[in-house]
Amino acid sequence: MSKYIRCPICEAVNLDTTSKITCRRCKQKIYHDKGYSYQQTLAYLITAMILFIPANLYPMLSTNTLGETTTNTIIGGVIVLWEHGSYPIALIILFASVFVPILKFIMISYLLVSAKYGRGSQRVDKQKLFYITEIIGPWSMIDVFVVAILASLVQLSIVQIEPGAATTAFAAMVFFTLLSALSFDTRLIWEKNR
Ligand SMILES: [Zn+2]
Repeated sequence: MSKYIRCPICEAVNLDTTSKITCRRCKQKIYHDKGYSYQQTLAYLITAMILFIPANLYPMLSTNTLGETTTNTIIGGVIVLWEHGSYPIALIILFASVFVPILKFIMISYLLVSAKYGRGSQRVDKQKLFYITEIIGPWSMIDVFVVAILASLVQLSIVQIEPGAATTAFAAMVFFTLLSALSFDTRLIWEKNR
């Protein structure tokens, strides 16, 4: 057993004693392993992936113009925005709501697979990859914000915009992706000595 152990919260190096360890800097309890970190990450990831399906199939936005209701899915909304010439917004929504979640699914899956079956190579790259997933995570929420802002701004008597069923699924998807990244113990990257 190694003499030192890293704090998972503030990353301070602590002396590894056999009794209960609390971080000398942030007083966080330190465990030798995060228990079911791998299983938790996997479970949250699968939940997020399942939620991604209704988030894309159901309408994100329902627009009511003079009694005529049109609904739009995420992709449908992107196409409408593109056709109206709002290219930057269309690209931002396409990137944040479709590409980023898929990218995060791939990144976390890769980290999980390499933690289990990897040969322990390119660990620094994997650590960097994990930081990227943590940083870009909350940016997926941009779509929910766009819907929320649209719904509150465009409450004219002629046009009514309401969030669709996909909004809940989408927000839950982002939430579970964040949980998935959060429950991943980065020490899983480093401890494999194969
Ligand atoms: Zn600490």
